[in-house]
Amino acid sequence: MDDAGVGRAIYPDAAPSPPVQNGFSAKEEAIQGSLARELASLGIKDLRIVSASGERMLYSRDQSDIPRFLREIMFNASPDVVVQPYSREAVSAVLRFAASKRVTAIPRGSASSPFGGSVPVAGGIVVDLSSMNKILKIDPEKGEARVETGVRWADFDQELEKKGLTLNSSPSSKFSTVGGWIATGGLGLNSFSKGHLSRSVLSLELVTPDGSIRELSRLDPEFQAVFGSEGQLGIVTGVTISVRSKPRRTKPHLVFFDDFRSAFVFARALAGSAVHPSHIVFESSSKFSLINRMLGKDHFPVKEAILVNVEGEAAEQTFQAFLRPTGLKEEKEYLARYMWNERYFPMKVRKFGPGLLGSEVVVPLDILPDAIEKSMALCCELGLRPLFEVHFLDDGRGLLLCFYVTDQGNVLTYTMDAVKSMLITSRLIQIGAKPYSIGVWFYPFSDAEEKDRVQRLLDAKKALDPQGVMNSGKYFSLSGRFGGLGGLAFSPRFMKPAFKTMLLFLPITSRVMRSLSSLHESALSKGPPRTATDLERIANECAMCGACVSVCPAYLIVRDERVTARGKLMTAMALARGERLSKEHSDRTFLCMRCKACEQVCQSKLELVAAFDVLEKELERLHGKDQQEIERFIKYAEASPEYDKLIERGLVIGAPRHGMGGGTGV
Ligand SMILES: Cc1cc2nc3c(=O)[nH]c(=O)nc-3n(C[C@H](O)[C@H](O)[C@H](O)COP(=O)(O)OP(=O)(O)OC[C@H]3O[C@@H](n4cnc5c(N)ncnc54)[C@H](O)[C@@H]3O)c2cc1C
Ligand code: SF4
Ligand code: SF4
Repeated sequence: MDDAGVGRAIYPDAAPSPPVQNGFSAKEEAIQGSLARELASLGIKDLRIVSASGERMLYSRDQSDIPRFLREIMFNASPDVVVQPYSREAVSAVLRFAASKRVTAIPRGSASSPFGGSVPVAGGIVVDLSSMNKILKIDPEKGEARVETGVRWADFDQELEKKGLTLNSSPSSKFSTVGGWIATGGLGLNSFSKGHLSRSVLSLELVTPDGSIRELSRLDPEFQAVFGSEGQLGIVTGVTISVRSKPRRTKPHLVFFDDFRSAFVFARALAGSAVHPSHIVFESSSKFSLINRMLGKDHFPVKEAILVNVEGEAAEQTFQAFLRPTGLKEEKEYLARYMWNERYFPMKVRKFGPGLLGSEVVVPLDILPDAIEKSMALCCELGLRPLFEVHFLDDGRGLLLCFYVTDQGNVLTYTMDAVKSMLITSRLIQIGAKPYSIGVWFYPFSDAEEKDRVQRLLDAKKALDPQGVMNSGKYFSLSGRFGGLGGLAFSPRFMKPAFKTMLLFLPITSRVMRSLSSLHESALSKGPPRTATDLERIANECAMCGACVSVCPAYLIVRDERVTARGKLMTAMALARGERLSKEHSDRTFLCMRCKACEQVCQSKLELVAAFDVLEKELERLHGKDQQEIERFIKYAEASPEYDKLIERGLVIGAPRHGMGGGTGV
């Protein structure tokens, strides 16, 4: 690969602040494919080109739990080439190249979205923005900051904290990128008090396929359209965003109710009160039942609950004054704090499947009780035990999540459960809910989007991407295999009547589905993985959420996702499917510090390092291992500033500095 290897070439001199600079360079695979070769021949600065099939494979899915065979029948999810730009000029050059070749460009942040927005449907160039991760400026006086959009919310918040500041709002997936949340939902933690993300963004930099780099302010007609545009308009490369002083004191409160209607009455009264909580969320009794099982003890009552977070002393007193006359008792503070901390780990319960599927819609609060009742009844008919979460918003609506545990390892059960999630969404939309995101998997519901929003996006598309280069074959129409037939079959035109018919004949539909699928919730604590079967189990338990990527020192050095826990588990799955992997792929997998930072942040709380041992044994058997490269890598990584930063953050618990074991094959 010309100049786009690992090490020196990834961090060219022109990059403003390369993460590391000195000798380590891992073996790189030869460039593959004519498109990648053509791109490489342009000699674009600040660009790493990924063309080898093993590394490209990692870009053929996001967090979505869709049955693999379905994905492969319908789409060509494998990108022709992946690029990792380090500057907006590199992004601009890549988009111009894509436009000149009439090839689609698919932006990708951390691929934590479950809707398939960053996954190709008919090949193309995936633009991985996670290396554009600089925090350019923090201005405490003005209460604003400027960042590149590949920065993760957690890293951004960490830097703000050093200056006594914090974010207004963030997604629960704090490991996802700033650009990813702008391009998708924008609703999450603190949306009740701070509103939609667009309220905090002051201006944004957008690179369009003609190569222009524009700064859009709130006054620009296209500004609003960028939010939720899912990569249709261009690539957001920079953002100026307002931030605030970190509150000195925050206190979560947990209040239980006998039924969900009473919980909603309480939450709505609280929302309209003088308390002004930062966040209000409803959690269903079914979730507490699973949490108790996870904790091995009945710590929580199995009832419906409202969890509310209050910031500052004055608000705390107002909350107490609000609660007193209701006669309700709140739970002990440590239980409320436990639940509040769990907001960053919403996927832990997927272990019981392993797997998690469901629906995510925005619902007016007036129809919320009806929405819960109807989806609960439907889940019951379909043999599902749903968990509900409702995040209250500032505009009289709620973000409703209806989830259930499924067995990702059982193709039939899993496929049936995926269809069930569509039926639940369809029922919710029938009664007035709106889809939260479209991506690929909610395309059947794209006609339920707010008309004004779609028109705004269409107008902006015409102005900014008239050739249809950006993330084409999604959102407005869906491409796929068989001359687009795969996508057409998935369109609202065909799917809407299909769902309607299935719901109309529910007694028959549900009987068929129940007979085809059978979920035996798995027991937990199976012990550390020791065999290839254990490894496959762990790989299935992985949510593919990408939380581990952002903290992996090996990744921060080589920028190749194959070294991360998510990458290693995808490699394990490929091996289990009997796929052939190159020697270079195998060698790359060994680059690991055994630092356990991935375990610290793992959404599924997996025993990753033990799994890596099993994987490495298998790879060593197939390809041998390059001991020298591993040792060189460990030495280099230990001395890197990125590693120091992780130690400072308390993420590296398994690795004493210098002379650690693990990846060196001891
Ligand atoms: C545990 C967990 C918790 C979550 N909690 C929330 C939550 O609270 N709220 C919420 O909204 N979502 C949530 N999500 C979903 C997901 O994390 C968010 O949508 C996230 O912000 C997506 O960011 P990403 O970097 O992963 O984007 P990706 O998944 O990589 O991409 C998503 C879409 O954005 C486009 N895109 C990405 N970057 C850019 C860019 N720079 N310019 C233009 N287009 C771009 C892609 O093409 C794609 O269409 C959660 C997911 C998980 C796994
Ligand atoms: S142990 Fe450390 S280096 Fe290895 S995959 Fe996990 S985070 Fe990365
Ligand atoms: S290993 Fe854990 S953190 Fe990493 S992708 Fe899988 S579930 Fe997420």
